[in-house]
Amino acid sequence: MPTYTAPTRDARFIVNEVLDLASYSNLPGFESATPDIIDTVINECGKFAAEVLQPINQQGDAEGCTRNADGSVTTPSGFKAAFDQYCESGWGTISSPEEFGGQAMPHVLGFAVEEFISTANHSFGMYPGLTNGAVNAIYATGSEELKAKYLPNMIANKWLGTMNLTEPQCGTDLGLIRTKAEPQADGSYAITGTKIFISAGEHDLTENIIHLVLAKTPGAPDSSKGISLFLVPKVLVNDDGSLGERNAVQCGSIEHKMGIHGNATCVMNYDGAKGWMVGEENKGLAAMFIMMNAARLGVGIQGLAQSEVAYQNAVAYAKDRRQGRALTGPADPEAKADPIFVHPDVRRMLMDAKAFTEGMRAFYLWAALLVDLTHKAPTEEERAEADLLLGLITPVLKGYGTDKGFDTAVNMQQVFGGHGYIKEWGMEQFVRDARIAQIYEGTNGVQAMDLCGRKLPAKGGAAVQKFFAVCDEEIAAAKGDEALAPLAEKLDRALSEQKAATMWFMQNAMANPNNLGAGAHHYMHIMGIVTLGLMWLRMAKVASAKLADGADDKAFYEAKVATARYFMDRYVPDAGALRRKIETGAESMMALDEAAFETAA
Ligand SMILES: Cc1cc2nc3c(=O)[nH]c(=O)nc-3n(C[C@H](O)[C@H](O)[C@H](O)COP(=O)(O)OP(=O)(O)OC[C@H]3O[C@@H](n4cnc5c(N)ncnc54)[C@H](O)[C@@H]3O)c2cc1C
Repeated sequence: MPTYTAPTRDARFIVNEVLDLASYSNLPGFESATPDIIDTVINECGKFAAEVLQPINQQGDAEGCTRNADGSVTTPSGFKAAFDQYCESGWGTISSPEEFGGQAMPHVLGFAVEEFISTANHSFGMYPGLTNGAVNAIYATGSEELKAKYLPNMIANKWLGTMNLTEPQCGTDLGLIRTKAEPQADGSYAITGTKIFISAGEHDLTENIIHLVLAKTPGAPDSSKGISLFLVPKVLVNDDGSLGERNAVQCGSIEHKMGIHGNATCVMNYDGAKGWMVGEENKGLAAMFIMMNAARLGVGIQGLAQSEVAYQNAVAYAKDRRQGRALTGPADPEAKADPIFVHPDVRRMLMDAKAFTEGMRAFYLWAALLVDLTHKAPTEEERAEADLLLGLITPVLKGYGTDKGFDTAVNMQQVFGGHGYIKEWGMEQFVRDARIAQIYEGTNGVQAMDLCGRKLPAKGGAAVQKFFAVCDEEIAAAKGDEALAPLAEKLDRALSEQKAATMWFMQNAMANPNNLGAGAHHYMHIMGIVTLGLMWLRMAKVASAKLADGADDKAFYEAKVATARYFMDRYVPDAGALRRKIETGAESMMALDEAAFETAA
């Protein structure tokens, strides 16, 4: 039976010591995030995740969701009771707007809570997970009437939200959407069409479900420029806020899938369902992007989540399982064999995982701070700067974070040898659950193209130049510190590789756009390495200062410095190989015609 302990010490280290959240207390909402409150939220949510959500994770996977004859869906045993507890504790409202009942605390705290919940139970976390994004989209673009009618109950998680983009013929390319929206005399729209793969499209956790649906109005351009966004409740809401008739939207079936069995992935049939336009006609994609950007950050956290829990269980197993002897001679001569922890190859996997998970935690919490600064920084210039950086790092957090998150979960399964492949240990579930994060919310190939095709060239490269400036400044400062200089020098080399790859794109992508497409995935990984390297430099800086001050918890800070060294030794050099791949261009990748891919018997 796998176990989970929420890494609250590490989260508190990053929030309090690395990000120094207290230093932002002049920003709205931050004044209530005092060190005591931060510690309480992190510790209590960690307890809830470990004690309530983790124990129903394995059973939820075995049981899955059931679609009943009337189209309703029953979630696995224990999910409803856990969800009620989740709502009572207010875990879903931490950083939602106060005017509609949220707690308006920093997203840094909201994201930390999201990590623990996703890690303890990925499937459970996905039910409330998309609601925050739906709230953001309605809040930013919906009419005052829609906001007043739906947001308070959505923020309270009394009603959950969903995101409906995908159709059978339309995945990445949203211009292919066929769902129709016919205007009605009362100002509403009749929505007709089929959406597939809708996470939490139907369930028994809440009395109502608020679907955000992309559809086309009559005569709209037949492309992504002709898409509008609609709010379609499962149960219609009367003017006095009470629930009315059932709307004409049904779950047609639930998908049988590789992982996240506890989350209902639904085919949703809209049969003239009543919906209301959110934002302007034909501008639905921009409104939906507000939801998608929030969801992409959430999926990046999922990348960390499954690798974290897999890592914790692999560490425990490696200390317990005895096979062979240490290469340097018996570590435990009294026993017949040493724990596998002594083998450098096992240590390689565990250190890779430790360096990745702790680095990713610092990465997503930095992104969360940027989300806060985008809205709350005191000057327009600071808000714009945070927005620029956040836009650039979002595809990296999602794409690199979930690619490496999956690799890490697989490596942690490897630590178990054959036992990792057997269900009862739980490791194969972590691998299956981790896999989806690379696919949904825009596949990682699409994240790479978003980064290289849109974010790099936008505003004349302003975002990446800002990113380089942040890295340069921190590297230069660290080079002046004897303890940090060796780390900074290694990170500087990786940064140079990223700068060179950026320049190569500038010089070669215009002439042949396939050069960009052929290198985008590698570029996203170089930037992931550099960003995690930056996080490790920041963590090492704080940790070595604490050690110099003779702080308590010496072992924690020493481990931080040692893991930073490992990251610079073992992750950072990959940036050079990736750059060299990029610089070969698209020629050999695109050389063969389609016929050459046929298998000859
Ligand atoms: C379990 C699960 C839950 C989901 N939840 C939701 C949900 O809640 N709401 C929702 O709307 N959707 C949801 N999805 C759908 C998901 O977002 C899509 O599957 C995903 O966006 C990819 O679309 P597709 O499957 O049609 O693949 P395709 O778009 O057909 O892509 C196939 C392959 O081609 C590549 N590709 C496609 N276009 C390009 C391009 N322009 N450049 C480079 N490569 C490209 C892709 O990277 C991929 O490798 C979910 C899917 C699953 C499996």
